[in-house]
Amino acid sequence: MTQSNDKPVIVWFKQDLRLKDQPALAAAIQLKAPIIPLFIWSPKEEGDWPMGAASQWWLHHSLQSLEKDLSDIGLKLIIKQGSYLDTLKKLAKETEAQALFWNRNYEPAAIEVATKIKSELKKEEIDARSFNGSLLFNPWAVLNKQNEPYQVFTPFWKTCLKHPEPNNIFEAPKKATAYKGKIDSDTVDKLGLLPKIHWDKGLEEAWQPGEKHAAKALQEAIDSVIAHYSEKRDFPAEKTTSMLSPYLHHGELSPHTIWHAVKAEKKLKEKEAEAFLRQLCWREFGYYLLYHFPFTPEKPLQSKFEDFPWKKSKKDLQAWQKGMTGYPFVDAGMRQLWQMGWMHNRLRLVVGSFLIKDLLISWQEGEKWFWDTLVDADLANNTLGWQWVGGCGADAAPYFRIFNPVTQSEKFDPEGDYIKKWVPELAKLPKKWIHRPWEAPKEVLQEAGVELGKDYPLPIVDHNEARQKALDAFEEIKK
Ligand SMILES: Cc1cc2nc3c(=O)[nH]c(=O)nc-3n(C[C@H](O)[C@H](O)[C@H](O)COP(=O)(O)OP(=O)(O)OC[C@H]3O[C@@H](n4cnc5c(N)ncnc54)[C@H](O)[C@@H]3O)c2cc1C
Repeated sequence: MTQSNDKPVIVWFKQDLRLKDQPALAAAIQLKAPIIPLFIWSPKEEGDWPMGAASQWWLHHSLQSLEKDLSDIGLKLIIKQGSYLDTLKKLAKETEAQALFWNRNYEPAAIEVATKIKSELKKEEIDARSFNGSLLFNPWAVLNKQNEPYQVFTPFWKTCLKHPEPNNIFEAPKKATAYKGKIDSDTVDKLGLLPKIHWDKGLEEAWQPGEKHAAKALQEAIDSVIAHYSEKRDFPAEKTTSMLSPYLHHGELSPHTIWHAVKAEKKLKEKEAEAFLRQLCWREFGYYLLYHFPFTPEKPLQSKFEDFPWKKSKKDLQAWQKGMTGYPFVDAGMRQLWQMGWMHNRLRLVVGSFLIKDLLISWQEGEKWFWDTLVDADLANNTLGWQWVGGCGADAAPYFRIFNPVTQSEKFDPEGDYIKKWVPELAKLPKKWIHRPWEAPKEVLQEAGVELGKDYPLPIVDHNEARQKALDAFEEIKK
């Protein structure tokens, strides 16, 4: 393959919607050839996991932002719809492209597509190359002494730390050479990513997608969150975590940028920086597991859980989805998710445990709901999270660890502020009762203007009974 600097290079954007630390774009710039930035919308090729509604909302805004940032450096984003391979082959032919560069995506469907693209384009003498722009450590490079993948986080993390420091970052290009020929392109609007019914007001209020906002969010996290991370990160009433997950998922920010920015920040204590980076590496662990065990979005890693006698109750599932279980902490979490497309990690654990262990509804149902409603819905990390809570994944919570939704609430939301925010009908209850209103004296409820069963539901299950049932069922599959 010969490289010339007059034939264009196609840079295919997907989950890396940024200019800074974008290895595929940086490689194209280095070639000094004209660049064609391309985005292809092909949900049918995402296997069982086409992008959910909340993530599509994010993608719409993120693409608009990328379009503008590319235009500022002299490039025009080309948007196409249709099969990845056909679109790429056609565009490469039409523009006589010399190369196609992209950043790797480690999801099973994406790996399959990328393998096909590489081999087909190479046949046509096109330099088809992928780069790592989304993981600090390549998943195939971290193995245990038996050369097998780790299934426990701590040794995985320790081995990662023995690897060379993650790559330095590529600064965003200030200008680039555009391809001069005419190429047909769709518009972002044409992709139809925004909801037809206007349910996205909460998302609009909560988020500003795009690379510039990602950088701002990182700076804010460094200035005001990470310094207290280990002590406060489990308390959801205030902003105690970075809220970077949607930016990371859509690739508006690379983990390398976060890693180096946190390490370089002198005002952060080492202990806090490490606690935060350790958590960032849970994200890596999610991708690592998905890469080595690609069946896990659909099936439990521990096969004995395939036979678990899950309950099918549409009524209970809907009560959970709507935040109407009668357990205020659980309901607050589910309503936060519905309103802002995001939920604090502590709540993801609590609502997950409630669905699986109190309602005995399968983790896959929770996984699907999160997939559709989270702006950070991420195949690797959603799978990791749900299998962890379900006790059926790697390094998972043992099945007998069942969160008590009341004590979790009293411990992590002691003043009830988080509940008051997301379940406003309980806002006037004193903190003694807000975590378990069904036990509150009649007069207290009356004074707070709450009639249980009318203004707010009575608990749909008794936690202690449900806990016992779950333990019995889990004992069965252990045999
Ligand atoms: C049932 C369940 C489902 C989940 N689904 C997703 C999902 O679809 N997408 C997603 O990005 N995360 C998911 N998580 C992990 C975690 O809850 C979120 O990453 C975190 O809440 C994002 O908030 P933050 O950016 O403020 O995190 P911070 O605490 O500020 O952490 C910084 C970054 O580290 C990573 N991280 C932190 N905690 C975890 C974790 N436990 N597992 C994996 N990565 C982590 C994230 O990329 C996060 O943005 C899930 C967890 C559970 C229990």
